[in-house]
Amino acid sequence: MKPITITIDGPAGAGKSTTARRVAEKLGYVYIDTGAMYRAVTLAALRANIPFEEKPLNDLCNSLNIVLEQSFDGQRTFVSGEDVTSLLRQPDVTDAVSAVSAVPAVRRHLVQRQREIGLNGGVVMDGRDIGSVVFPYAQVKVFLVADIEERTRRRLEEAKASGADTDEKQLRKRIVERDKLDSERSDSPLVKPEGSVEIDTTNLTVDEQVNRILDLVKSYQRTYALIDAYGKI
Ligand code: C5P
Repeated sequence: MKPITITIDGPAGAGKSTTARRVAEKLGYVYIDTGAMYRAVTLAALRANIPFEEKPLNDLCNSLNIVLEQSFDGQRTFVSGEDVTSLLRQPDVTDAVSAVSAVPAVRRHLVQRQREIGLNGGVVMDGRDIGSVVFPYAQVKVFLVADIEERTRRRLEEAKASGADTDEKQLRKRIVERDKLDSERSDSPLVKPEGSVEIDTTNLTVDEQVNRILDLVKSYQRTYALIDAYGKI
C-alpha cells in the first residue's frame, strides 16, 4: 500500500513525540519532530541576539540550513552543519520558542521545509499545526491531549532524567504559558485540526496510544483497499 502521511498535534506534554516515534518505527516510516525545527531557529536567534521580529528572523532563516537526520536514538537536528540536538531543550530555548514560532517568517520557512520532507508520504510528523496547516489533507490526523497534572508529571520525569530543573510549580507554569501563547497566536495557532481524531492520553500507556493510532491507520487502509477494489463506496 502507498505510504501515507500521519499528523500528530497537541499541546506540550500530551505524549506526541514518544508516540509518534514508536508509530513511525512500527510502520517503517520517518518520524519528524517539527518542534525541534522551531527550537533550532530559536537557539540560532538567541545566539545571534536578534529581536524576535519578522525581518531579522526572516534573514536568519534564509541563512540557516536545518537538516534532520534519523538515528538509533531518534531525530538529530543540525543547524548549518552543527549537531544542536542536545541544546534544543535548554530552558532558555524552551522559554523563547513560542515567541519565535509566532513570527510568520519563521513559519513560512519551516512549513515549506516540512512539506518538502513529507512530500512522498511515509512520515509521522508531530507539532502544533501539522494537521491544520502543513498537511491538512493527511490520511490520518490525530490530536493528542492530556490533563495538565499528567502533562506536568511527564515533564517532571523528563527533567529528573536529564538532571534539569525539577521545580514542579515552575514546570506547570511554563507548560500553561507555552500552550496559551501557541493557542492564541494569529498565524497557525494550536487547534484541533478539522477531521482529526482526538485521543486523551491521560490514562493511557504509550503502547495503548501507539495501538490506537495504528488502528486508525489500519482502518484507513481497509477503506482504501475497498475503494481500490470497488471504485467507490
Ligand atoms: O514540540 P515542542 O515542545 O518541542 O515544540 C516547541 C515549540 O515549537 C512549541 O511550543 C511551539 O511554540 C512551536 N511549534 C510550532 N509549530 C509546530 C511545532 C512546534 O509552533 N508545528
